[in-house]
Amino acid sequence: MDIFAQNILEHSRCPHHQNKIDRIDASFEASNPSCGDEVNLRLQLDDKRKSVIGVQWKGEGCAISQAGMSLLSDWLIGKSVSQINTISSHIMHELLGVEISPRRIKCALLGLYAAKNALSNSNVSWNDVINI
Ligand SMILES: [Zn+2]
Repeated sequence: MDIFAQNILEHSRCPHHQNKIDRIDASFEASNPSCGDEVNLRLQLDDKRKSVIGVQWKGEGCAISQAGMSLLSDWLIGKSVSQINTISSHIMHELLGVEISPRRIKCALLGLYAAKNALSNSNVSWNDVINI
């Protein structure tokens, strides 16, 4: 097994940021019915609501979706809301470190889809997340 697949397995077995945060400022429940993946993401923002200072999430589903959310939860801490809203889907390829087949793209991007929807004032579609 290569090192990247090992990373995904470890994050799916022991996902990061499962503990309660002090305050929930933004949240979103995202699902990918084609695979049965779900994540419930909760974010704590700084007092000016400009950046993420806490992440808490729960989810179930395939290893790619759960490891992806776990890896993204580490990345989200300290990032600005505008940075998260404009980051491209490439970040998930970088974090997961493996090639994602088109069939699994929604698994890989589920966490990012949840984060963008939690932090955006408008509804962010799957196409928006996949194409930027
Ligand atoms: Zn999946």
